[in-house]
Amino acid sequence: MALEHSWLWSIIEVLKRTHHLNNIQIGNFNDEPPPIAIPHNCPKCSSQIEKIIRQYRETNNIHLFDELDCECKEEWKKIIAKYID
Ligand SMILES: [Zn+2]
Repeated sequence: MALEHSWLWSIIEVLKRTHHLNNIQIGNFNDEPPPIAIPHNCPKCSSQIEKIIRQYRETNNIHLFDELDCECKEEWKKIIAKYID
């Protein structure tokens, strides 16, 4: 299955669903060896959301993601719906 690219929305979704397991560690996007595809959203929200993911790593506060939204989220939902159905 070939997704166009990884979305930060997908990462946030995984974090929300796994947060109760405690201590979920997500790698930095600049890990070595570099990831093949760096997750991103649209140009409008990517840097803001990357910043919040960094804050989450430091604080482990899942509510940082509560208020996030962007017009690209609807696009992401359509894309993942293809794979879920
Ligand atoms: Zn966006």
